[in-house]
Amino acid sequence: MTRGQVVILLGPPGSGKGTQAARLGAELGLPHVATGDLFRANVSSGTRLGKRAKGFMDAGELVPDDLVTGMLLERVAAEDCAGGYLLDGFPRTVPQAEALERGLADGWSARALLLEVPDQVLIERAAGRLICRMDGAHIHHALLAPPRRDGICDRCGGELYRRKDDEPQVVRERLEVYRRQTEPLVAFYRARGRLELVDGDRTPDEVCSTLRELLGRAA
Ligand code: AMP
Repeated sequence: MTRGQVVILLGPPGSGKGTQAARLGAELGLPHVATGDLFRANVSSGTRLGKRAKGFMDAGELVPDDLVTGMLLERVAAEDCAGGYLLDGFPRTVPQAEALERGLADGWSARALLLEVPDQVLIERAAGRLICRMDGAHIHHALLAPPRRDGICDRCGGELYRRKDDEPQVVRERLEVYRRQTEPLVAFYRARGRLELVDGDRTPDEVCSTLRELLGRAA
């Protein structure tokens, strides 16, 4: 991929954005910037931002745009993002996408790769998802990718836990929020000629090789 390019992994909750961004980021040497992970880190260290975000997160709702956008633009201004970065979970609304466009350095552009997965599959994935406490990008699944030792991350030995917002009721709410507030971004990036569609209902390896191929090509 071209340096200085910003790649957005777009898709409903549970579509594999986090898994794929972690793999691609490591392969391409690009930082994986996940607003959900940034919020969870703020919640666990008890910052003011974390306290303001927690209620929205637990209910499966979006954190207000100004809080998210400020946090994100500060993160991508860091030195490690100077050569480009992979966004996971941002933008999630049209105003966030507009703020990102305004915040991009001159000559930079953002391209969106949309992971498409049917709702029923998303609900099943979330129901078994196990996240590592040491690194939120290490993800297992009780049925699809069980850890070798119960409750322990294969990759780093961290403790695995279920996210509160992965309960089926909250997942349904998050899917509704996605349809209402995030799906308009599909039209936003399509209208700018910056959208590519990817079948996300395949194994992580298959999805990863498609993404790798797309990123190897110019936008
Ligand atoms: P995620 O890990 O991406 O599923 O995010 C977990 C939760 O963090 C979401 O359900 C939202 O409450 C919040 N969040 C993460 N990213 C954003 C965003 N870009 N805009 C608003 N809320 C967000």
